[in-house]
Amino acid sequence: MDHFNYRDGRLFAEDVDLTRIAEAVGTPVYVYSAATLTRHFGQFQKALDWADHLICYAVKANSNLAVLKLMGDLGAGMDVVSGGEYARARAAGVPGDRIVFSGVGKTADEMAQAIAGGIRQFNIESEPEMEILSALAAGMGATVPIAVRVNPDVDAKTHEKIATGKSENKFGIPIARAREVYARAATLPGLSVVGVDVHIGSQLTDLDPYRQAYAKVADLTRALRSDGHSITRLDLGGGLGIPYRRDNSAPPLPLEYGQVIRETVGDLGCQIEIEPGRNIVGNAGVLLSQVIYVKHGEGRDFLILDAAMNDLLRPAMYGAHHDIVPLRESVPGAEVHAYDVVGPVCETGDTFSKGVELPEMQAGDLVAFRSAGAYGAVMASEYNTRPLVPEVLVRGDQFAVIRARPTIDQILSRDTIPEWL
Ligand SMILES: *Cc1c(COP(=O)(O)O)cnc(C)c1O
Repeated sequence: MDHFNYRDGRLFAEDVDLTRIAEAVGTPVYVYSAATLTRHFGQFQKALDWADHLICYAVKANSNLAVLKLMGDLGAGMDVVSGGEYARARAAGVPGDRIVFSGVGKTADEMAQAIAGGIRQFNIESEPEMEILSALAAGMGATVPIAVRVNPDVDAKTHEKIATGKSENKFGIPIARAREVYARAATLPGLSVVGVDVHIGSQLTDLDPYRQAYAKVADLTRALRSDGHSITRLDLGGGLGIPYRRDNSAPPLPLEYGQVIRETVGDLGCQIEIEPGRNIVGNAGVLLSQVIYVKHGEGRDFLILDAAMNDLLRPAMYGAHHDIVPLRESVPGAEVHAYDVVGPVCETGDTFSKGVELPEMQAGDLVAFRSAGAYGAVMASEYNTRPLVPEVLVRGDQFAVIRARPTIDQILSRDTIPEWL
């Protein structure tokens, strides 16, 4: 459920008419609903209310400072995957002891930054990383909490580009080798082993892979305890999917996911961390765009929008689907047309969706891409020197620009022509 609904034939975000935002800020523009974000976070809180837990929002899904501040104020921790994301979380007011640091390629500088600034735990993805972190922490006179990310070798049954828990993926340490790696960790200075970490992929629409992975984590936890390690925390990752098509059968709810956690690891007495990103912010955002041209091609009609693959990359990158709806609601019974919806970028991949059924559209009409809050703005670029897409946050009847569209002058001023040229 989200807070983007038609009122008197016009699409609103909470109590704000989206056409008003399009007119005030221009298009393309992302719009997020604070109420939807809050609601989704609350669902995870409720799903884990049986456990001592921390929900570490996956910053990479949507890292705008205003979104992070809102999440942090609700009590969320953060899962970061770079020094930049760590800085964002801190700038949004999230204390270091609520931030976990994941990622396969953490640099020494990034790790030092997080040690100095405060960190809840590092999720270690390889032995070389563990050695470097140990040397760094010891050199700084610190002892840092770590969990080792294990790769449980389960099929997450999701898109191959966002599956992370199979043995052929680059993530984590093979679970079969985990006891050896924990034994090594226990001998290293500057590290304090606190838990086990796992994350098997994104946009999961089936709970079964979770059940398999978490059962393996539970077995490992018992084995590690019998080896003498103190395992007090389990980081179970993110990945719970969202419905991208309104006609589709819905993916499992956070409450059902929480039950799987309880059934698989609930008896271990561990503090539970989860790292949802998409499920919190995905349906809390839309991308607004204006029709530039309606072009009649051979056997098909194109809707050429002012949004493009550089603003919303998911369709070009993963073949992902987003429902596209008009801001002016189509009247029941009105004639529908099928359009191939494309952007202006010079790539055939700049196609959002084919055969989209919409009322008859004209240049100047406005549309919304639904479910665009996650992996939308964060993946945007300025390809074709199209200004980085702006973002707006709505709460109740108010809205604010939370990232402004740069001017062309600002874009050009970031380049330098060397004086010897
Ligand atoms: C991407 C990622 C997440 C979030 O995944 P979602 O599908 O957005 O929930 C969580 N943890 C790690 C380690 C990730 O890489």
